[in-house]
Amino acid sequence: MSQSVSQGEANNAIPSPFIPAPDQQCLCGKKKQFAQCCGSKKRDRKPPAGVIVKRSIVSASYCDKLVEYAAQQVPKQLGVTSKEHGHAAAKQSVGRQSLAIDLNEKSKSVYNLVEKIFKEVVSSKMNIDIKHFVFPTLMRYESGGYYHRHTDSEVYNWDKGVWEKKADRDVSLLIYLNNDFQGGDLHFNYFNYTFSPRKGDLVLFPSDHRYMHEAQMVSKGTRYVIVSWGSGKEPSGLRTIDG
Ligand SMILES: [Zn+2]
Repeated sequence: MSQSVSQGEANNAIPSPFIPAPDQQCLCGKKKQFAQCCGSKKRDRKPPAGVIVKRSIVSASYCDKLVEYAAQQVPKQLGVTSKEHGHAAAKQSVGRQSLAIDLNEKSKSVYNLVEKIFKEVVSSKMNIDIKHFVFPTLMRYESGGYYHRHTDSEVYNWDKGVWEKKADRDVSLLIYLNNDFQGGDLHFNYFNYTFSPRKGDLVLFPSDHRYMHEAQMVSKGTRYVIVSWGSGKEPSGLRTIDG
């Protein structure tokens, strides 16, 4: 595996400087300083520009059914690696501790749900038309499970000092399915923003480096989440990486 696709692996340095800097004008257009606006360190604040949160957009009964199904499945260990042979490779990684659930007979309903969100919510809230998306995955984070900070489409080239797009993804999608866990918050590193997910919540955000994020460790219980990534371009030859 080349260095370029190992973006989730342990690298404790965080690329900087981030633009805008704390004292520069915020990227949301409100003309406040970034540190006082979308980069604020205040707790319980609104999501930063670009992060779309819809609480309880998916019905509790649908979430419950999926979790009930998922709890009965034998999961696959996911590392941060490429899909070399059409299946998620069983490589473990220090950057990630999570499990993928085969959707089987749930595939169609999950696909339809994700497609509807990409078509209806993303097009109206994010100013991008999704042309295709990665088939959704249902992830299980057990107690101790986490995903180290990473970006979903870009990799930092430390030699050149630039971010390079490695995956054909523009929008990242997360649908949270349950409440009976502790920890497991979604944290956006550059924005100092932490989201505590609840059952049925949807989170969308641009897949690029500005929205570097991590799934914090689940301290108790098991967290279930559906993930996918949409692209505004027709399918290209860019390699898919698990995110
Ligand atoms: Zn702002």
